[in-house]
Amino acid sequence: MFEKIEIKRDKNIKRLKIEVKEGGSLLISAPMFLSESKCIEFVGQNAKKLSKMIERQLSFEQKREELSGHFLYVGKKTKIDVDTALKRKYIFSQTGLTLSDSRHFSAFLLDEAKRIITPKLHDVASFYGAPFENVSFRDTKSRWGSCSAKRNLNFSTRLIGAPKSVIEYVVIHEVCHLKELNHSKRFWEQVKILAPHYRESERWLKENGRFLFIH
Ligand SMILES: [Zn+2]
Repeated sequence: MFEKIEIKRDKNIKRLKIEVKEGGSLLISAPMFLSESKCIEFVGQNAKKLSKMIERQLSFEQKREELSGHFLYVGKKTKIDVDTALKRKYIFSQTGLTLSDSRHFSAFLLDEAKRIITPKLHDVASFYGAPFENVSFRDTKSRWGSCSAKRNLNFSTRLIGAPKSVIEYVVIHEVCHLKELNHSKRFWEQVKILAPHYRESERWLKENGRFLFIH
């Protein structure tokens, strides 16, 4: 039932791992001692789960295709192109974003993250009575935001691709960590007061977060 299966064997591979690759193909990384038929057997046993993963990958590829020549800006599909004749890093207007070099997309994200997130953060922190030390922004994939014991906050510049309500939720989440540096029940209760629909935002990030990294 799976059309494309590739098996990779290596003495450094300690345990069986299956990944879904571009086009929905399966890549099986297996230890040397595991026979090919055992690998295929494992695929069969996990067929349902793997089909779901493939479906997810194909739907991601389709949506990514729809976003071709565009990027998400505060949740909206926005045009993006490169004009090497441009004398600045980028120009951003109603019609879209033009970069002089595709590498400047990070600079654009940083400028916009500072402009959009910083005032929101000040508002939420003062409303909640939770002062912070510093805020920084980085082009990170690992997390959308973080809060340290020293009261320093960090946000991923990629967040500006998410809808406004989602950006707000991430800000609220990190501000709540200024009082509760954990994910306890008490922490989530606080989040819920400030962001009653936070679960929708969590879901949005889980389902669409990947689209914020296509450029
Ligand atoms: Zn957290």
